Formats: sequence, C-alpha cells, structure tokens
Amino acid sequence: MASEFVKSVAQRVYQSVRPAAADVEMLLGLEGEVDLRSLFEFSDWVRRVHVGADIYLRGIVEFSNYCGRGCLYCGLNRFNARLGRYRMDVEEIVAAVEAVAKAGVGTVVLQSGEDEAIDAVWIERAVRRIKGRFDIAVTLSIGERSYEDYELWRQAGADRYLLKIETSNKRLYESLHPGMSFERRLECLGYLRRLGYQVGCGNLVGLKGQTVRELAEDILFFKEADFDMIGIGPFIPHAQTDLKDADAGSALMALKVIALTRIVTRNAHLPATTALGSVGGVDHRVRALEVGANVMMPNFTPGPFRKLYEIYPGKRCVDEPVGCCVGCMKMMAESIGRHLSLARGDSLKKEKHTVISAR
Ligand code: SAH
Repeated sequence: MASEFVKSVAQRVYQSVRPAAADVEMLLGLEGEVDLRSLFEFSDWVRRVHVGADIYLRGIVEFSNYCGRGCLYCGLNRFNARLGRYRMDVEEIVAAVEAVAKAGVGTVVLQSGEDEAIDAVWIERAVRRIKGRFDIAVTLSIGERSYEDYELWRQAGADRYLLKIETSNKRLYESLHPGMSFERRLECLGYLRRLGYQVGCGNLVGLKGQTVRELAEDILFFKEADFDMIGIGPFIPHAQTDLKDADAGSALMALKVIALTRIVTRNAHLPATTALGSVGGVDHRVRALEVGANVMMPNFTPGPFRKLYEIYPGKRCVDEPVGCCVGCMKMMAESIGRHLSLARGDSLKKEKHTVISAR
C-alpha cells in the first residue's frame, strides 16, 4: 500500500522550479512505515530516471590531517592535541593515486584539513604530476582558499572541488565555525564555479540546534545553486571536540535528506557517505543507494595514516588493506541489482557553468 498523499506532495516538490520549504519540511518529518516507503520509492524512481543504474566510485586519499580551523564538530580541529598529525609528501600522494588508478577507479579525491603549511604551488605540482601520469579525474577537498589558488589548481588540471556548506543557515554555520564567515564560504563556492570546476557541496544532518526546517532549506539551497555533487552525512560526535556530548544525527533523517535532495536536484551525484556507513556502528550505505544515492567513496589513504584522519570516531574500514573497499562496494551494488561503474563519472548536469572570466 502506498500513501497517495505522500506521493502527491513528493510529485509537486519534484516538478516545482521553486519547491515550497513547507512541503520539503513535511516530507522530512515523515515517520510511518507506509509514508516512508512511498517517499523512498519515489526518490529511487527519480534516481532511476535521471541517473540510471550506475554507481560511480571516487577513491579518496586523505593526505594531511593538519588543520588550522576550530570547527566544533570535527576531530581534526586545531585544538585536538591528542591527534598524531601527518602530512604525506608528493611521492606518497602519487603512489596512493597510482593505487586508485590501478584499481581502475576513474576519480581520485584528495582531501585534507585546512593545512596552513601546504602552499598552493605544492598542490599545483602534485596535481600536475597526477594528471601527467594517470588518466583520472582529480577532485580537491582542502577547504577555503584564495581565487588565485583555486585558479592555479584548475589550470594544473584539477577537475572538481568539494566544499560543503555544512549548513545553509548563517547563524548555525557561524556558531559551529569560530572565526569563519558564511559569506566567505559562499564566495569560495562562487569562485570554484566561475573557474569551471565541477562543484561538490553538502551538509551535516543532526547538528545540535539544527531544525527540520533548516534541513529543508539546505535542500532548497542545493537545488538553487545546482551543484554537481552533494555529500550528505549524519553528524557523529567526537570526544576531542566541543560537541562531544551532543547526540549523533539520525541515520533515518540523513536518508530522508538524501531522498529529498535526489527529488529536487534530479541528477546531482549523491554519495552514500562513509559517515552513513559508520553512524551508530551500522552500515546504512546500501540503504542510501536505495533511496537516491549513486556514488561511493572507497578509501585509498595508506594504512598508517588512515586511522589518524579521524574526523569522527568509528569510521569504517580503517584497518582494511588499501583498495579492498572496491570489492566490497561491488558486492553492495550487486546485492541491489545495480552496476558499479569505474568511469570518471563526470557531472550529469547538462547546462555548463563554465564561465571562466576575470573577477
Ligand atoms: N578541510 C576540508 C575537508 C573537511 S573533512 C574542508 O573544509 O572542506 C570532510 C567533511 O567531513 C566535512 O565537510 C564535514 O562535513 C565532515 N565531518 C567533519 N566532522 C564530522 C563529524 N563529526 N561527523 C560527521 N561528519 C563530519
């Protein structure tokens, strides 16, 4: 049995150019089994029509856990003196990317904390080495930088950039990110778009003080900005952060946010995030793939470092050999009749945002 009411509101949200926040909020508030099934069947249908059966992989290499920021939720925050810090050198990064390429994975994500010691030319050199040696899409995820830095890396061949808004609510954003400004975040996202990067954004679900209405507004923000990729994950408390005593975000709410984001954005790439595979010690990633997600992120950070990239505790697969995630993910995909694609998996957005112009 399906809920006709849920289906009709979901349909309206899907078809609107500017969906009503109240509709999205109402759907995020659904709890009953029949209602949820109707919502998730609808979001899975949108995924099937606009994205297809393929699940794309992005191999992630977490190359430095140094960070100059004090984000209240993140284990890499600068005040966490208990964390052993590391920074891989260019040779180590290239070797890790080689493992991604050898596994046949078409995209590598280079991620780090906001490491103040990493200069732009160093990253440029690493990107050039990688692009010169491997036929692989490169995504950078290293935080807020100047227009000139982003431009240098783009010219070196970086294809994509991931910079999550975390929350689209200015007040909540600034309460979680001391010394950072919401406008600056938006400005950086604008630079990336102008430079022709495929731009990834995303949020955290279940932050302390976050309302369902704010989550609905995050989803509408994703639609409005037309991001190429959107990473959605539950907040997981970390003992060495200000939010150590806060409750974890609910996996169900994160799944609903993924489903609604699929419905409104239609063909954005949506990963089944590692945080969804880790929260509460349960792996919800297959569920995420069933309700709208179409991307997975196997971890290719070399063994000794992987444990140290502890943005939240209980992160999945920190002790597994490099690359073994790919086999696991193939099984997960096939268990639900989907197909693992090793292609680059570029943006599915037709209209190009590539206006490379002077400021
Ligand atoms: N320094 C980079 C990458 C940050 S880590 C940047 O600023 O973009 C990547 C992501 O981990 C963050 O965007 C955030 O959404 C997520 N994250 C951080 N702490 C978390 C926590 N405690 N629980 C869940 N996700 C978290």
